[in-house]
Amino acid sequence: MKKVMVIGVIALLVTVLYAFDINGYLTISGLKNSVSQLEIWRTDNPLLAGVVFFLLYVLIALLSLPGAAVMTIGAGALFGLLWGSIIASFASSIGATLAFLLSRYLLRDIVQNRFGDRLTTINAGMVKEGPLYLFTLRLVPVFPFFLINLLMGLTSIRTRDYYWVSQLGMLAGTLVYVNAGTQLAKLTSLSGIMSPVLLVSFALLGGFPMITKRVMKYSERRQVYAKWSKPKSFDRNLIVIGGGAAGLVTSYIAAAVKAKVTLVEAHKMGGDCLNYGCVPSKAIIKSARLAHTIRHGEHYGLENLTPVFSFRNVMARVHEVIRNVAPHDSIERYTRLGVEVLEGYATIVDPWTVEIKLNNGGIQRLTSRSIVIATGAKPVVPPLPGLDEVGYLTSDTMWYELAKLDVPPARLVVLGGGPIGCELSQSFARLGSQVTQVEMAPRIMIREDEEVSALARDSLTNDGVLVLTEHKALRCEKEGERKFIILEHKGVETRIEFDALLCAVGRTARLSGYGLEALGIETKRTVITNDYLETLYPNIFAAGDVAGPYQFTHTAGHQAWYAAVNALFGDFKRFKVDYSVVPWATFIDPEVARVGLNEQEAKEKGIPYEVTRFGLEDLDRAIADGTAHGFIKVLTVPGKDRILGVTIVGEHAGDLLAEFVLAMKHRLGLNKILGTIHTYPTLSEANKYVAGEWKRQHAPQRVLNWLARYHSWRRGA
Ligand SMILES: Cc1cc2nc3c(=O)[nH]c(=O)nc-3n(C[C@H](O)[C@H](O)[C@H](O)COP(=O)(O)OP(=O)(O)OC[C@H]3O[C@@H](n4cnc5c(N)ncnc54)[C@H](O)[C@@H]3O)c2cc1C
Repeated sequence: MKKVMVIGVIALLVTVLYAFDINGYLTISGLKNSVSQLEIWRTDNPLLAGVVFFLLYVLIALLSLPGAAVMTIGAGALFGLLWGSIIASFASSIGATLAFLLSRYLLRDIVQNRFGDRLTTINAGMVKEGPLYLFTLRLVPVFPFFLINLLMGLTSIRTRDYYWVSQLGMLAGTLVYVNAGTQLAKLTSLSGIMSPVLLVSFALLGGFPMITKRVMKYSERRQVYAKWSKPKSFDRNLIVIGGGAAGLVTSYIAAAVKAKVTLVEAHKMGGDCLNYGCVPSKAIIKSARLAHTIRHGEHYGLENLTPVFSFRNVMARVHEVIRNVAPHDSIERYTRLGVEVLEGYATIVDPWTVEIKLNNGGIQRLTSRSIVIATGAKPVVPPLPGLDEVGYLTSDTMWYELAKLDVPPARLVVLGGGPIGCELSQSFARLGSQVTQVEMAPRIMIREDEEVSALARDSLTNDGVLVLTEHKALRCEKEGERKFIILEHKGVETRIEFDALLCAVGRTARLSGYGLEALGIETKRTVITNDYLETLYPNIFAAGDVAGPYQFTHTAGHQAWYAAVNALFGDFKRFKVDYSVVPWATFIDPEVARVGLNEQEAKEKGIPYEVTRFGLEDLDRAIADGTAHGFIKVLTVPGKDRILGVTIVGEHAGDLLAEFVLAMKHRLGLNKILGTIHTYPTLSEANKYVAGEWKRQHAPQRVLNWLARYHSWRRGA
């Protein structure tokens, strides 16, 4: 309402000014015709004339009316070079700042709500570099000033910066125009004031601070190399350290574009994902799931049976799955693709040299134009007193330690309520372990919405997991062969006996022991990189878990493209990593998958949203499959079908999510999903139904009422 009033006042002022034929005065000829009369008035009332002129100038600039240039000339004609410049300079700057504030007040919320996610980077850039951009724009008078006010109001540049940079930037132009005004009689048009030479000089002057800043930044970045001597030529275009998801994809891309690339892996090709992470965990999840289905056969009209299996065989299958996937990441495959693979431990000795302690005992030193660090992460082991004495498993060791057992650990304690802790707790419970899962936070899977955490907890509990939230592990104790963990909950200690203890409390980037310290490459939980994945040294990049912020195989692969392309072609064009649409899934049963915002994040960030849900209990295929539980929750921009985020809880949620990931990436709204044929009967129909639900909620009621009347008229009713 207030905004409507402000628009009304603006419209009124513009009407009044035009009623007084303001546009007739705001031309060179108009000014010439009235200047003698105005001069008499100024001589009689110099102060009043100055104040009225000043206020009129502010008003014209505030209302973005064409004529600011003529007003500046008029200032020169009426008040001379000194006073004319002072009046014009302050009036134009104040007027411009008021127009900027007006645009901010009227339009910024609308623009931010609509394009907020895309504006985040621009806004961050504006806070940092906005004054420089503004200065350039102000000095080059070819940019219409009213447009600058309007557009800058939509960004997050600070008002006081806007004022002083505007005044400083416009000063040179103001002086030229005021000076022209002192010789008004000789002027015939506005175009004659700014000669092409003057325009080019202003443009150069405007660009100067920006260019200087860029040059200084460039030389600063180069300074880090000062103490190193650069080789005259290089053995390789690229050396990649680490053969996990990030390193494999980086070297694959480098080889594909015919670069000479060496990949160094100290341990096992395929890294965490293949050997200790995604692959073995998904393999055991499948066996556990089958055991669960057999146990609940009556759900499908069969008999409930007790699954009969050898745990050793289950673990053998896990390793068989690893072996079956391994050729995809093997030395042979990568060699065929054109990557030189060295098995050994790499250390960066200077910004262009990597020393490799080969597994066969030799040492090799290679120089390279660029280096990509893809050394991954390792499991965090909490500093619990007594932990070493009782012994513990991590994702690095469990697959090999447990493979020696005929039966799963009878009593398993899992520390950690994150995705890995949840997946493994459920699987071991389904395979027959009595699992206690311990989480310090008030709920498991804390990054997800509360209802998702609650569903996950119910599901784990139904499978027999004892989920203990708000429980802090204090220490471990051993009594003979018996092992205990002591937990604290609301000031009360509990002692839980276990046979095996699995630490799944997170994974930490590998940051030491391979040269980062000596080179001074900054780290803070991960290797610090800029948006291009460059470290302190612009020719050394980091990707994957070691770089963060995500710890997924698909984000490692995604970053790898940027690391490879920026490392090989960055001198021509660099690309900022795009994290705008990042999906992930937790493979508990039912699966939990998400892309973009959930409700808790939207609230934290103050992003307005609407929620549309579709419950899977109504989905034909899910009913037939006996998996009709869970939901799809879509967050959209209020009143629009644009997707802000999607959470799916249900069978194959990770796969169902793909359609929304594609939609978000390519800015397709729910209407587009609704207009797409989905095969019947599939789980993917749920995606269409949630879009349909959104459509129903946004049906135009008034039009529908009219349609009802139309149809009843057609029936002659
Ligand atoms: C139990 C578990 C389940 C998971 N499930 C999933 C999942 O379902 N989906 C998903 O997306 N992600 C999952 N992840 C995460 C995923 O495994 C990682 O995000 C991914 O492996 C990261 O890849 P990376 O290339 O960054 O690092 P890594 O795969 O860790 O590779 C780094 C490699 O660098 C080598 N290296 C380190 N230092 C040196 C050196 N100095 N010289 C030579 N070589 C060196 C290491 O030996 C290692 O092979 C899971 C992780 C775990 C532990």
